[in-house]
Amino acid sequence: MHCLTLTPYGVCNVFSIKLLTKLNTYPSKLLENAVNELSRLPGIGKKTALRLCLHMLGQPEPGITRLGQAIIELRQNIRYCAVCHNISDDEVCSICSDASREASLICVVESARDVMAIENTGQFRGLYHVLGGKISPFEGKSPADLNIESLARRVESGNISEIVFALPANMEGDTTVFYIYKKLKPFGIKFSTIARGIAIGDELEYTDEITLGRSIINRQPYEASLNGI
Ligand SMILES: [Zn+2]
Repeated sequence: MHCLTLTPYGVCNVFSIKLLTKLNTYPSKLLENAVNELSRLPGIGKKTALRLCLHMLGQPEPGITRLGQAIIELRQNIRYCAVCHNISDDEVCSICSDASREASLICVVESARDVMAIENTGQFRGLYHVLGGKISPFEGKSPADLNIESLARRVESGNISEIVFALPANMEGDTTVFYIYKKLKPFGIKFSTIARGIAIGDELEYTDEITLGRSIINRQPYEASLNGI
């Protein structure tokens, strides 16, 4: 007989979690509701949601209240930068407001997550522009659904000298890059894309042909590669 009773400590074992989700019978409507809401999140199935709920029930109440409050405040108060559309606490984000950044260089990315990834490298000192997606007929995303007009206005202002495309290396990413390139080409600025090639540590024989081919096309002088060491 496995424990199906919830207690604030060491609640149910793995088998009983499986049993609960399999039978779809919960000892509490409140628990069922919380599991259903959590399992709507990406990557969270019913089993994981139940495990998280049981874990939270075992935690002191103030901590869980802070968690709930943080989620509510995130959703209600988060803003998007009026310049680059990055996630921000203020009208203009901390990157756009940083006078030490190279304001004539804009890196175009799909999402705020990409900004965080590039910032974590510590290798880019320009500004960003978050498109909010990529052109995708399959997902019903057209250029009008993306933050392309605001990018054009930034370039029109005359303060931009180079755009670096850092979009996914797939058909939608390439389509988006080409569309923006065609639209902004008349302004006579420089366009570049992040290098695409073999990942550090990869063996050549296991690399797919497209990646290997691009690596050869985008080859760089050996001395330039030493800068990254
Ligand atoms: Zn910004």
